[in-house]
Amino acid sequence: MSKRKVIYEGKAKIIFEGPEPGTLIQYFKDDATAFNAQKKAVIAGKGVLNNRISSHLMTRLETIGIPTHFLKSLNMREQLVRQVEIIPIEVVIRNIAAGSLCKRLGIKEGTILPQPLIEFYYKNDALGDPMVNEHHIITLGWADIYELEEIVAMTYRVNDYLNGMFAGIGLKLVDFKLEFGRLWGEYGELYLFLADEISPDNCRLWDMQTNEKMDKDRFRQDLGGLIEAYQQVAERLGLVPKGGIIEGGSINEQVAAGLEEIENELARERKLRSVNKSMPKKPKG
Ligand code: C5P
Repeated sequence: MSKRKVIYEGKAKIIFEGPEPGTLIQYFKDDATAFNAQKKAVIAGKGVLNNRISSHLMTRLETIGIPTHFLKSLNMREQLVRQVEIIPIEVVIRNIAAGSLCKRLGIKEGTILPQPLIEFYYKNDALGDPMVNEHHIITLGWADIYELEEIVAMTYRVNDYLNGMFAGIGLKLVDFKLEFGRLWGEYGELYLFLADEISPDNCRLWDMQTNEKMDKDRFRQDLGGLIEAYQQVAERLGLVPKGGIIEGGSINEQVAAGLEEIENELARERKLRSVNKSMPKKPKG
């Protein structure tokens, strides 16, 4: 790895200073962690697959008008992103009951929810990312009501789009986590962006036919075959050639390095919609 300035190192990614002001480089590690990093492993090739999957999904989301921080892929483990101020909230949206929802409320895993369910968690490792509600977010100043309204609208839209996209490749999108960031324009106007990553590390994906888990639950629940599952997701999305980039537990560097670049020119060119913070909306009626 080069000697670039590290801005932040997380559990699965390193953020480096970018080549120009307002940009950052996201490096995807092979580290897998669960239960607030109490369980750890290094899984060869995970970073490469997540980089590709996330780049692709962010690019697709840009085409339906979701502003994302993704600018372009740089190499098999790195992508160029916009530098945004991260809102310290993890937004989880669920279509099917799984994970902590089942544990917390005693709901049977696999129960289809009558409508997508949004939850908020405060991003704070030391506190174990506690669940919070809209009132905590506004009262404690993590986001204001206009930002929150926009975040919720974007989350539903991302969910609808990704649900269809994954259904098209035989996967159920059970739930996933999003993060958002903000940027100010020339005149002090505020823009929101989808940030972080979208990959099988932060989505639950089940095979439509068999309900086999194709995501990080394979690691959380000691099911094994995590990299094969991630590779299967990438393969179904058409992002890696058949047979994939992982062979016998190690990465085929030649195939991985030869993967087509994912560019997202849209991210730089598109006209962004600012969040109106100054003019409260008129009540209906
Ligand atoms: O564990 P829980 O059921 O609350 O997770 C809901 C969804 O959010 C899962 O897809 C999980 O991968 C994701 N998540 C995440 N990062 C966290 C917590 C949950 O990506 N810190």
